[in-house]
Order: sequence, then structure tokens, then C-alpha cells
Amino acid sequence: MDADASAAPASDSGQGYDATPYLPSRGGLAALRRAAADCHGCPLFRDATQTVFGKGPARSRLMLVGEQPGDQEDVKGEPFVGPAGQLLRRALDEAGLGDENAYVTNVVKHFKFTPAPRGKRRIHKAPSLREMTACRPWLVEELRLVAPDVLVVLGGTAGKALLGSSFRVGERRGVLLPMPDPFGEEPGAVPGQLLATVHPSAVLRADDREAAFAGLVADLSVAATVLE
Ligand code: SF4
Repeated sequence: MDADASAAPASDSGQGYDATPYLPSRGGLAALRRAAADCHGCPLFRDATQTVFGKGPARSRLMLVGEQPGDQEDVKGEPFVGPAGQLLRRALDEAGLGDENAYVTNVVKHFKFTPAPRGKRRIHKAPSLREMTACRPWLVEELRLVAPDVLVVLGGTAGKALLGSSFRVGERRGVLLPMPDPFGEEPGAVPGQLLATVHPSAVLRADDREAAFAGLVADLSVAATVLE
């Protein structure tokens, strides 16, 4: 179904949250990005500045997916441009992935936050399962179009979106796994591999930031072996 900018938000129409009615019926990443700009599939579009869609070339060999845009991403309209994004770029460099022209995106495309006092940064709020599920069709289409050799899942929220609600990043990080079944296929039926690691914002919050950063680099180094 083509995107219908006049459609009532799912939350207003009494339906469940779902981005599917806003997906374009054809086209590549550019068409997908344009359509996502008008998505009202859940209430998060209301308070956010804009949709922050994935960025990077189609058919990148490396794709990274995080949780949701942050304060700076929301303002600039691009993923991973804030402090966590800068840390991620350093980690990719150290893991030997700095030259890869990666496609980066998030599970949820609008910033969810708690309003902050005047002049202060807005406080990130984790998306709910309903919001993640609503936004998932965009991610599935991105995955289909980019078809990466390796998909790096950053943090527990992204892991849950792709591997199920029982996913725990601490239990499965740094290990190459078969690509999950976003299209309804069996795991492994879709080419490529998946690797989970921590979200770079968790490194920024860690008591021992140096050790946490080294752990992120070690995990990304495993992903790099796929692209050698
Ligand atoms: S968060 Fe996702 S589903 Fe919700 S309005 Fe934004 S793009 Fe649509």
C-alpha cells in the first residue's frame, strides 16, 4: 500500500500501532526514506522533531542497527551523529572497519524522550515493545534492500527486535550468528551473519569506560573477520 499522508495516526484511529500502511509499494532506500518521513504508525512522531531514517549506501557489506535516535540525531535528522556515534566510529576504526561504508540505522525511527528543563538536553526514554514492533517494518525493508554480509546489533533493544524478547546482549555478544528471519524464512535462509554487541551509549555510561570500549572493539573485530 502506498504511504497515505492523510491517514489518521494508528493511535488516533483505534488500531494497533503499525508502520506497515506507510510503507511504499515500490522503490529502493530513497523511496523508503521519503515515506518514513510521514510515518504516523505510532505516537512517537508527535513530540520528535523528525523521522531519523537509516543512512549509508544500499548494498553495504556492513549494517549496524541501534535502538533509537538521540537528542542530536533528532535535531539533525541523521543517525549516530551524537557522542555515541563518535565513539562508535572510533571503535569501528580500531576494529579495522573504519573503511567500510556502513549502513547505520535504528530499530525505532523517532526519538522518545522525557522533556528536560529549559536549555537542558532531553532525556532518552526506552521505546516500548509496541513502539518497537510498530516500527519494525521499516527495519525489515532496510535489511532486505541493503542485504549486508554482516549485521551488527548494538544493544539489547535492537537484539530483542531481531532475535526475540528473550535476547540478552551479555549472553550472546561477540559471536557470529545466522541472520534471523525478518522475512518469515528460517534462520540461516537469509544470507549474511549477525553479531550482537553493546550499544556505544552503554560504553559512555560504563564505570570502567576503557574496558567497555575494549570489549566493543573486540566484538567488532569478530564482525570484521566476515568482511576480510
Ligand atoms: S517511531 Fe516508527 S512507527 Fe512510530 S511514527 Fe516513527 S517511524 Fe512510524
